[in-house]
Amino acid sequence: MLKVRFAPSPTGPLHIGGARSALFNYLLARRENGVFIVRSEDTDLERSSRESEHNILEALRWLKIEWNEGIEVGGDNGPYRQTERLDLYREYTKKLIESGHAYSCYCSEEELEEERQALIAKGETPRYLGKCRHLTEEQKAKYEAEGRKPVIRFRVPEGQKIVIHDHVRGEVVFDSDGIGDYVIVKSDGIPTYNYAVVIDDTTMKITHVIRGEEHLSNTPRQILIYEALDLKVPEFAHISLILNTEGRKMSKRDGDTAVIDYQAKGYLPEAVVNFIALMGWAPPGEEEFFTLDELEKIFSLDRVSKSPAVFDLNKLNYINAHY
Ligand code: GLU
Repeated sequence: MLKVRFAPSPTGPLHIGGARSALFNYLLARRENGVFIVRSEDTDLERSSRESEHNILEALRWLKIEWNEGIEVGGDNGPYRQTERLDLYREYTKKLIESGHAYSCYCSEEELEEERQALIAKGETPRYLGKCRHLTEEQKAKYEAEGRKPVIRFRVPEGQKIVIHDHVRGEVVFDSDGIGDYVIVKSDGIPTYNYAVVIDDTTMKITHVIRGEEHLSNTPRQILIYEALDLKVPEFAHISLILNTEGRKMSKRDGDTAVIDYQAKGYLPEAVVNFIALMGWAPPGEEEFFTLDELEKIFSLDRVSKSPAVFDLNKLNYINAHY
């Protein structure tokens, strides 16, 4: 059974781009009689708030993008807020350390910065070169006595090609050598995004990960964790960036980027959904006005475009006037 998710970080309002990810996941789940989960990725303790989480969920509800498992709805795979899943991440971290796929790193910010600068000076990609990979128990004890708190790093295998068969982008290949051992648990015990997302997607039995293209470079890091834990890797679809009509990154001048602004201005949710659906997805015929129910019958990933989507406020106004 198809199982998808929308996993916003509650660090601000729901943006058009996030709403589009949510919508595509929702439509696919409806079309395939699958499950659509919403979970809150609140591991950035400083920037996350319950208020943002609430606002995001309200914006989804306004658009009538409903989830059948997840936050505020419940289900067998909860809790659906990452800060309430720390014990689960700890269990997996233990496994990764025991199997040699992860290790404690005591390097200070200054040491890391020195390494970065040295690599940049040599024209190489800045990355962690594995200084703490082989620490002895005594060295660790010495660092601990100095009061250093370790992070946990994932040990990236050398010379491995990581291949993604992306539903939108086709085959994308990454080389593990450019990655460097990355942090999976911060010194305060909180997991990083790339780690928590894997543990959540696997325990929530997600079959398809559909998200914005800005996450494509995170995907090889996530695949390596699945492989280290001997877990099934889900399928991926990375949907393109949203640009303004001039082909540049969206700014305030092109229109508001938060869904709630359109609600405040009196746009109809049906029109906003219709508009969002057409950003990067091409309907099969000439028709351009669709209700959610109609969209769920015709939506498919193979009509999602690889090229950047265009945000055109005139188009939204045109669609809104139709309703
Ligand atoms: N929390 C991430 C974000 O909001 C989710 C990315 C993902 O879907 O994996 O960008």
